Amino acid sequence: MTPTIAQVALPVPLHKTFDYRIANEMPVVGGRVRVPFGKQYKVGIVTALTDTSEFPLEQIKPINAVLDTAPLWRPSLYKVLNWASRYYQYPLGDALATVMPGHLRKGKPAIREHEKQWSLTEAGRDQPLTGLTRAPKQARVLQLLRAGAMNHSDVLEQEVTAPTLKTLEEKGWISASTDKPTDPWQRRYEVIEDKPTLNHEQAMAVATINANPEFGCYLIEGVTGSGKTEVYLNLLEPVLKRGQQALILVPEIGLTPQTINRFKRRFNVPVEVLHSGLNDTERLNAWLAARDNDAAIIIGTRSALFSPCKSLGIIIVDEEHDASYKQQDSFRYHARDLAVMRGHEENIPVILGSATPSLESLHNATTGKYHHLTLTKRAGNAVKAKHGVLDIRGLYLEAGLSAPLIAEMRKHLNDGNQVMLFLNRRGYAPALMCHECGWLAECKRCDAYYTLHQQSGELRCHHCGSQRPIPHQCGSCGSTQLISVGVGTEQLESQLTTLFPEYKTIRIDRDNTRRKGALENYLNAIHNKEYQILIGTQMLAKGHHFPDVTLVALVDVDSALFSNDFRAPERLAQLFVQVAGRAGRASKPGYVLLQTHHPEHALLQSLTHQGYDSFARAALQERKQAQLPPYSFFALIRAEGHQSEMVEQFLYQARTVLDASPIENDECAVMGPAPAPLHRRSGRYRWQLIFQAPNRRILQQRLSIALPAIRQLPLSKKVRWSLDIEPQDMS
Ligand code: ADP
Ligand code: ZN
Ligand code: ZN
Repeated sequence: MTPTIAQVALPVPLHKTFDYRIANEMPVVGGRVRVPFGKQYKVGIVTALTDTSEFPLEQIKPINAVLDTAPLWRPSLYKVLNWASRYYQYPLGDALATVMPGHLRKGKPAIREHEKQWSLTEAGRDQPLTGLTRAPKQARVLQLLRAGAMNHSDVLEQEVTAPTLKTLEEKGWISASTDKPTDPWQRRYEVIEDKPTLNHEQAMAVATINANPEFGCYLIEGVTGSGKTEVYLNLLEPVLKRGQQALILVPEIGLTPQTINRFKRRFNVPVEVLHSGLNDTERLNAWLAARDNDAAIIIGTRSALFSPCKSLGIIIVDEEHDASYKQQDSFRYHARDLAVMRGHEENIPVILGSATPSLESLHNATTGKYHHLTLTKRAGNAVKAKHGVLDIRGLYLEAGLSAPLIAEMRKHLNDGNQVMLFLNRRGYAPALMCHECGWLAECKRCDAYYTLHQQSGELRCHHCGSQRPIPHQCGSCGSTQLISVGVGTEQLESQLTTLFPEYKTIRIDRDNTRRKGALENYLNAIHNKEYQILIGTQMLAKGHHFPDVTLVALVDVDSALFSNDFRAPERLAQLFVQVAGRAGRASKPGYVLLQTHHPEHALLQSLTHQGYDSFARAALQERKQAQLPPYSFFALIRAEGHQSEMVEQFLYQARTVLDASPIENDECAVMGPAPAPLHRRSGRYRWQLIFQAPNRRILQQRLSIALPAIRQLPLSKKVRWSLDIEPQDMS
């Protein structure tokens, strides 16, 4: 057959493809076309070529332009994307558009604009640097280029400005070219850094994984500082040597210059870093560098998983337990799960590393689905932190701090060390109350209290972002006796400044690190010991090492012990182990303290006495008894609207559709409609329908039968709703 029709997936929220007539040029499956859609043109991906359509040929509009002569993705990745679109029930056209660089989405050509490269001219090479003492920048450029040609952006990174380059070019000492470098990295691949000799456990892990370059999933469980990154670096060697690429995923907060530099320093190969700060051109170039195997190592957050590597040899997911791997809106995929899927399709090893593996991955390791490798010793000569549980029942608390904790802090500070306090609550206090009548300042648009932000003089709702000035009078009785309830990081900061005026205190949370580079600056100042007391939310817990911190305290663990989110204990345990790993070094062992009203709580006991593994075993047992993940699989339909009844009605109808399309021996339970834990947010009423099945297949079967019918419900167009498969957060 000669195809006459192309089926095209368009970036529209509809679960179908659209037929277009093939005009002058033949499109390719997996490539882009521009097509008329309504009054405008859209860029879509051809999913199939055919010669039939359910519509008469004369009604079908022709393709406006064929944009690619080859598919954008190799078959393995294209298959993963198709699977993900089906599994997460997200329209294929939208899903593909999500994972494409912006330029491609807009229809620009998929070719790399090669960056300008600077090199010395004959005259430039003959220039004595001593003659340029009054132009140190120019001398610097000449010196840099003596070692070889450099990319424009790399030169700029060396504190050289574009005008300097222009001046030198005008003098005829340097010249630019935009040719693609002819020397592929594979030909000059080398390990260029002295590396430590692996310890026995590290060597075992590397040998086990390297023994088989085919698909396998490996969970590396290694305490912080046990040398996981060193293992990753060693795993990369045979991969790069074969000329293959490595894909490394890190959590949002873990993409630090330190991490990136470790990979850049070890090998003389091109490294692409994918982060949210890239502009569209940089993003496209990184994408193309991956596609053409011009980048050897690709490091990035969640979405880097979709890099179209030409010849992928390994996928590494660092801190695999991190919640940022799950996308929380629109295309709600889990990058860790898709990494395993992709590794399978590409037939390459997938490495999941963590000091505190997710219960899901531990379960997979226990059942033999994943290989389980452990690193129990801290590399080098770091020692393990000690910990203690501080029983604060009946103790007087000053801004949440007990006297024994304050005394302990003083000891460490007087010894010239740093101390670090964790509190996962931003602001001054989580509520403002009237001392006369008990009235609480409540957000008008949410079922939630305002958080008091003293420094900015505002009440802020952490759910909808609305804010107002701090009132002077009670909204109910008019009294001026308003008091704060509970403690946030801001209050902790001001209390500590009062308690320890001789030491400098720094607070690190989302409120004061929004500015670009702010977090980096604070972290540098901490490393330079400009501050002695560090206060933070969990932002401070990840990816940073503070060798001079000898005391870490979790100010409040009780809220996590009694949360109605079944994942809260797991998160607390992970936080505890992560913070314990931040502190101390060989000469200065760290001490971790937990303040609690429930020192006998089983979770705290197993965690502090036996460690994460034993906690995880107990937690898995509990999950099994309650039939919670990983022993069952959830999906959530969230619906919201300004009229509560209408939203509830929609979910009732959805429920009725489900009940009317029974499946034989259906093992998928459906619960609800029920109000969401935060019933009203931003003035919208929120309801949920919860699905629970013993495995993914059954969950999928139930949903794929029901969803088309649910989408047909007239109310489905009137309320805002979405589906979250395997939600990380059930609120
Ligand atoms: P992790 O990723 O598990 O936190 P790293 O790989 O960052 O651990 O290792 C922690 C520190 O120990 C690093 O400074 C690293 O260079 C060092 N290190 C790792 N492995 C060894 C080893 N076998 N011998 C000596 N030092 C090591
Ligand atoms: Zn009052
Ligand atoms: Zn609100």
